[in-house]
Amino acid sequence: MPFEDPLTGFPRDQLATLPTPLEQAGRLETGASWYIKRDDLTGLGMGGNKARKLEFLCADARRQQSDVLVTVGAAQSNHARMTAAAGARLGLDVHLVLGGDRPSTIEGNQLLSALFGATFHYAGTDDWDELETHMGNLEQRWRDEGRHPYRMPIGGSTRVGARGFLVAWKELLDQCKADGIAPSLVVHPTSSGGTHGGMLAGQALFGGPPILAISVAKQPGDLGATARRLANELLVDIGAAISVPEDAVQVDGDFRGDAYAVPTPAADDAVRFAARAGGWVLDRTYTGKALSGLLAYAQTGRLPAGDVIFWHTGGGPAIFASDGCPELGK
Ligand SMILES: *Cc1c(COP(=O)(O)O)cnc(C)c1O
Repeated sequence: MPFEDPLTGFPRDQLATLPTPLEQAGRLETGASWYIKRDDLTGLGMGGNKARKLEFLCADARRQQSDVLVTVGAAQSNHARMTAAAGARLGLDVHLVLGGDRPSTIEGNQLLSALFGATFHYAGTDDWDELETHMGNLEQRWRDEGRHPYRMPIGGSTRVGARGFLVAWKELLDQCKADGIAPSLVVHPTSSGGTHGGMLAGQALFGGPPILAISVAKQPGDLGATARRLANELLVDIGAAISVPEDAVQVDGDFRGDAYAVPTPAADDAVRFAARAGGWVLDRTYTGKALSGLLAYAQTGRLPAGDVIFWHTGGGPAIFASDGCPELGK
């Protein structure tokens, strides 16, 4: 059963292998010292940042006696895959509303979600609002049938899910202290805002370095506002009488390219760079674009002195989809 998380006081399930390693990555060509926070190694269903959110989301679902988890995502959603794994661990049914049409062969994250026993619903569209509507209809049908679904929005980014990244922020600060690391900046990809929001709440509570979120999805202004709102809701929930100042929120939208999940040459270069610099597996949709941002900041002299931390949020399984690896040249 869920336990009470000592930091936030909220129910939490143990799903992730924590703390994740904080790995010394050496120096960039520009001489900047960098570290990688290995959230690709959270363990749950091949890992990634969503495991941290799901620890709180699933505990919340179980507290409400839900019998089915339902969530939504793009065709290669990591969140959908880790929700499927969490459901398998906890004995909950999982239904996934996915973007696009049923593919002729399932690959990458979808292959794993199927392996974990999830049921798929293809929405036939990639429009995020339409996906949410589709999920709302499913949820209503189950309620009418007397079931108790627990509905998670895209990326699991609610004030509940963000708790996982408040805890993660404290975990990072503790590791830096123990290892004598002086973090000067944290860089991570953002797409639905929960990861960023949780970190911002953690930063407001415990201090720590500035955060640079690289948008891989929406306009930076919208995404920054979402993250700040989630952070402030979370601070209210834990009874902290503080809020996140506007100038703590830094979102850069220059590395997204044409759209979410559309590869960029710079991200592909970053995926190759990480693979060859340390055997680190990045993906084209999230971590590749975020690292392309970090590398561009280094090259243009925009990184602060000190140890820069790249938060590796996962996404590795997408590399096995037919369009997931830059080496396939698509
Ligand atoms: C979901 C995801 C993100 C973004 O996290 P949000 O909390 O949705 O902003 C980053 N990287 C990977 C690999 C993800 O799957």
